[in-house]
Amino acid sequence: MAYVGRFAPSPTGPLHFGSLVAAAASYCDAKSQQGKWLLRMEDLDKPREVVGTAVDILNTLEAFGFEWDDAILYQSQREAAYLEALQQLQTNGLAYPCTCSRKEILDSTSHLDKKHTIYPGTCLQNAIKPNKPIAWRIKTTSETTQFNDAIQSEFSENLSQEIGDFVIKRADGLYAYQLAVVVDDAKQGITRIVRGADLLTSTTRQIYIQRALNIATPSYMHIPIATNNAGEKLSKQTLASSLNKQQPATQIWHALDFLNQQPPIALKTERLTALWSWAITNWSAAKIPKQHSIMI
Ligand SMILES: [Zn+2]
Repeated sequence: MAYVGRFAPSPTGPLHFGSLVAAAASYCDAKSQQGKWLLRMEDLDKPREVVGTAVDILNTLEAFGFEWDDAILYQSQREAAYLEALQQLQTNGLAYPCTCSRKEILDSTSHLDKKHTIYPGTCLQNAIKPNKPIAWRIKTTSETTQFNDAIQSEFSENLSQEIGDFVIKRADGLYAYQLAVVVDDAKQGITRIVRGADLLTSTTRQIYIQRALNIATPSYMHIPIATNNAGEKLSKQTLASSLNKQQPATQIWHALDFLNQQPPIALKTERLTALWSWAITNWSAAKIPKQHSIMI
């Protein structure tokens, strides 16, 4: 099967070093195997979107010499496909409506750690409340969902015990990230997903949805995420500085160094074509550190 990879930024803030690491890893992994590298704009959550950011992200990727294949997929235009997936799950009895408020779920959970609530299945056993916004949940089973990650080895989760029936369409009408990603990866024919290790626990949920929808599971490679001194993932929320379009080579060099690709110092001042050519030719997934996060 031909390799199809992807990079899927959310337009909630400009790209930062952590995004560059993920983009570079997925790009080099795809290109080193003569694969396609597709882009997807994860602009599902329109209220959180910062106007102009999607265009800025594309300009930044271009300035850094990334060359993507095919048309960009925008999640904001995919509502019909998400609805179709939800309906398929409903028809097969795998999804059910939920009208519980956050407080009701917190009050009913027996879990000691209230930050990690497991939905107790209230609306599966009882009638939903009238005149309340409805979320949709997927039924989980006690079967273990597991996969072999190209870097992190075997990862498994018992979804009913560790996550509970999770939301696939939110009460505010937005489709959940987990459902949208699965439907879009299938649409784009993605065969290999390279992304940050903070999404390891999302992966089991996504595989669970794939199986429920009869969608083939791609292979996964979860790379360490970049954190600040406080151990927080770089993001707009943790005030990560955005990439500097004026000095792409140095920043790409640092991303390759972060991924332990041992780029020669001379590459820092190389032209982007030569830099990417080196990175793709010398790409070694085996050299990537196995940690889930690395402080920069
Ligand atoms: Zn409920």
